[in-house]
Amino acid sequence: MMVNSSRIDKKSAAAFQEARGLIPGGVNSPVRAFKSVGLTPLFMESGSGSRVTDIDGNTFIDYVGSWGPLIVGHAHPKVLEAIQVTAMKGTSFGAPTLLETEMAKLVIERVPSIEMVRMVNSGTEATMSALRLARGFTKRDKIVKFEGSYHGHADALLIKAGSGVATLGLPDSPGVPSSVASNTITVPYNDLESVKLVFEKFGEEIAALIVEPIAGNMGVVPPADGFLQGLRDITKQYGSLLIFDEVMTGFRVHKNCAQGLYGVTPDLTCLGKVIGGGLPVGAYGGRLDIMEQIAPAGPIYQAGTLSGNPLAMAAGFATLSLLGEPNVYDELERKSARLEAGFAANAAEFGIASTINRVGSMVCPFFTEVAVTNYDTAKTSDLGRFNAYFGNLLDLGVSVAPSQFEGMFVSTVHSDADIETTIEAHREALKRL
Ligand code: PLP
Repeated sequence: MMVNSSRIDKKSAAAFQEARGLIPGGVNSPVRAFKSVGLTPLFMESGSGSRVTDIDGNTFIDYVGSWGPLIVGHAHPKVLEAIQVTAMKGTSFGAPTLLETEMAKLVIERVPSIEMVRMVNSGTEATMSALRLARGFTKRDKIVKFEGSYHGHADALLIKAGSGVATLGLPDSPGVPSSVASNTITVPYNDLESVKLVFEKFGEEIAALIVEPIAGNMGVVPPADGFLQGLRDITKQYGSLLIFDEVMTGFRVHKNCAQGLYGVTPDLTCLGKVIGGGLPVGAYGGRLDIMEQIAPAGPIYQAGTLSGNPLAMAAGFATLSLLGEPNVYDELERKSARLEAGFAANAAEFGIASTINRVGSMVCPFFTEVAVTNYDTAKTSDLGRFNAYFGNLLDLGVSVAPSQFEGMFVSTVHSDADIETTIEAHREALKRL
């Protein structure tokens, strides 16, 4: 039996109507508005374990997980306890706390590339600050990023590809100066040849190449064999820094992040999402000689009133501690593999064009038969089908991100029964297409 067979979202509809007059588009982050899937958003009331409940009282098995952070599920008792105990002692001091040192130790222990780490408040702040650091350290201005990758909304990273391979970027939003965009070079993901061309042309001017080691903002796109090592070799050759944006993959795909999974060590790493356990946190870290250039140790400025906030550190530390327990990632792998296999069998049953990409607990079913290896191939997915499928799934009590270009996040608290219920809902959602 499905969790919820008929969605009644009257209160959400009224809430959205009111919010639209007060908040741009009714939301505090655009994709939450469900615009791309042609629906109006559900307003959430509560979450517990693998479930969320909206303000109309509908309950869903949730694979959004707040867009990645909630790898141990909603309102995990250990995370809540850590927040509560910490909050009783005060919520912010603007002075160093022991929690920050404990968190730094844990991050340095777990992330191979990180010898020193600075806490910030979001993934955007992490990537923005890592870029400033890379530019300050190398005394170069240009950066390289990949088409279809999202690294937060800092000006230098909100750039779409120019036409042709080794060309400079164009602003992706009004308000991003073209002078800023012109320092960002964009190349196709998984395409080492294009990266080589760009470095042959601009190598001496490139401060850093930033990459999602598993692309998670064009669906889920794993790195091709040798791709990340190739990036490591090329950046080293030209004296540019390699930055892994592990805001999504950090502690999601492996205890030691994607860099642990693939055995490639960047110079700098950006973290966010999971590291905050559901509170606003980001971090960037890396080689000691580079990190020591950050103020007040060095001249490169970066700061934050709430950075290293006690509640955020407590939630993050509790989450990372839970992820340090034995077999956590093996179990995530087992459940996610079952989900993938179930989805594949369903698509085959109905003869629906399907490619399912997955790395660990990041799972993404595309509506295409083309192998999805970069943004262009991700865009071959039938978005009309995705939108209908999304609505069907919601009606059947399963919540996934309202975008084809975002994966599902399996958590440690999705039970085997949740996974089987989801596979059955997926089957029914495809059947109704
Ligand atoms: N980098 C990656 C890979 C992301 O997926 C995101 C957010 O989705 C960001 C950076 C930006 O993080 P935030 O939304 O916390 O600013």
